[in-house]
Amino acid sequence: MSAIADNLQAVRARISNAAAAVGRSPESVRLLAVSKTWPLSCVVDAAEAGQRAFGENYVQEGIDKIASISGRNLEWHFIGPLQSNKTKPVAEHFDWVHSIDRLRVAERLSAQRPTYLPPLQVCVQVNVSGEATKSGCAPDAALELCRAVAALPSLQLRGLMAIPEPVDDVQAQRLPFRHLRQLSERIQAAGLPLDTLSMGMSHDLEAAIAEGATIVRIGTAIFGQRSSGNA
Ligand SMILES: *Cc1c(COP(=O)(O)O)cnc(C)c1O
Repeated sequence: MSAIADNLQAVRARISNAAAAVGRSPESVRLLAVSKTWPLSCVVDAAEAGQRAFGENYVQEGIDKIASISGRNLEWHFIGPLQSNKTKPVAEHFDWVHSIDRLRVAERLSAQRPTYLPPLQVCVQVNVSGEATKSGCAPDAALELCRAVAALPSLQLRGLMAIPEPVDDVQAQRLPFRHLRQLSERIQAAGLPLDTLSMGMSHDLEAAIAEGATIVRIGTAIFGQRSSGNA
């Protein structure tokens, strides 16, 4: 077995254990393998080990990989910051976007989504830690942005995404995830059907699953440590 296949098995076991610990079924949590900065051969290794959904942060790198690996029935998720002048290739080649943080980007993605493709599946990214450096809309602005995104014809609003500030303590990790879940519940109570909470990375997937994550985005624990300089 390749190292990547071993790592995938270990991550799947962490997901199952974390789900079982809070009485959730392991199938209620999807694993997104974050392949940013890793070569195509790593994606192929993971795909051969049964991994289907992959996450990329950089537009050019992502579409290069998608173009060179067509025919394997993989699902591609864009999870990085998205500038409005780079939306077109994302609308044309990805299946999901997790990082919608303003209406202009969503409007462009909807207008540029080819009609022969299903709607782009999207999450609104929320800044739950309140740091100036992280992207994501303010929690207060999330309901209004969700309403506007849900009204766009070629997007399907699925839920919320967050990247909390990294901390070591599991109880402390749970707080921002809980806030995201509560925000999602409020948005659902306002009449928008959301089924996705995209939260949890290599170091905090247990805390995220305990708070209701339905997609965890895992890079390092599958592919290894990214070299310095890579995000
Ligand atoms: C890089 C990245 C991940 C994966 O992080 P790891 O700590 O390597 O698991 C998840 N989500 C986003 C948005 C990322 O940029």
